[in-house]
Amino acid sequence: MAYVYDTQNIFAKILRGEIPNTTVMETDHTLAFNDITPQAPTHVLVVPKGPYVCYDHFALEASDAEIVDFNRVIGQICVELGIQPGEGGNGYRLISNAGSDGVQDVPHLHVHILSGRPLGRMLSRP
Ligand code: 5GP
Repeated sequence: MAYVYDTQNIFAKILRGEIPNTTVMETDHTLAFNDITPQAPTHVLVVPKGPYVCYDHFALEASDAEIVDFNRVIGQICVELGIQPGEGGNGYRLISNAGSDGVQDVPHLHVHILSGRPLGRMLSRP
């Protein structure tokens, strides 16, 4: 499957510095910033800087360096925010929505890190 990346999506604009963000962590390959509409006391979005639409696109086409960096940033944020379960924190949830069934609003891969309150069961039935 050949994904077509929309360069005008809101996270592309954030990555180009056209829209402000509250940065949590930045590396050569990855940017993490606070969600503008937080669903929990901690709600961080982690995005690769490269033009990847969703998780499978990134997992299949990104370089090893990008993939390692992205995952290390998620781990480091968990440490910095003190949300690691059993390490003084109460845990967290990672979500990465993809496509229409996944209800992905922004077509640039992002992982949501949610924490700071009990998050309920993984899914509720419609
Ligand atoms: P999705 O539904 O695509 O998984 O999640 C998109 C997320 O992006 C939502 O949680 C939404 O609140 C967040 N978001 C949308 N526009 C902006 C923005 O301009 N800045 C920030 N920081 N977050 C945004």
